[in-house]
Amino acid sequence: MRIAICPGSFDPVTKGHLNIIERSAKLFDVVIALVLVNPNKRPVFTAEERVDFLRRACAGIPNVKVDSYFGLLADYARTVGACTIIKGLRAVTDFEYEFQQALTNKKLNSELETMFVITDSNYMYLSSSMVRQVAQFGGDVTDFLPECICQDIVARLPRLENKKQEETL
Ligand code: ADP
Repeated sequence: MRIAICPGSFDPVTKGHLNIIERSAKLFDVVIALVLVNPNKRPVFTAEERVDFLRRACAGIPNVKVDSYFGLLADYARTVGACTIIKGLRAVTDFEYEFQQALTNKKLNSELETMFVITDSNYMYLSSSMVRQVAQFGGDVTDFLPECICQDIVARLPRLENKKQEETL
């Protein structure tokens, strides 16, 4: 059985992520969408919330499982018997970081391959941080988030107020 992992912060999962997961699910027997707890990032949503959003977004894809992990991806892959990590690539700017990650993971687990799936052009500008910012200032994010979780995500984000910055002399 060919198992692949789609790892990320998913803070929160967007239509861009979901597109990569759906396409990966056509290539592998099982795809694990994995919420990685990154000690260098301060997420807005808890790991439990991020897992819940992902589960609901992926509910219609039978061979996708959702999990979370605090630790090295290379170790998680070994534990579950995964052969491949799948990363989405939006732009050249993603590449340098992903290249470093892929080589590090190969060093830590030589059995593990990293595959890159090029973003759908509709989602190439989409990131979780951009979606959060638009939603927090009251903008419409329905085109960016999976429909079944969109309202819930917006409702749980702390709202920021649009206001004119006071001028200082
Ligand atoms: P973000 O950069 O939005 O915070 P993550 O850290 O959760 O996203 O990213 C997890 C994976 O999903 C990475 O491989 C990232 O390149 C990919 N990804 C994120 N957004 C998109 C998108 N809009 N299209 C394709 N891949 C994406």
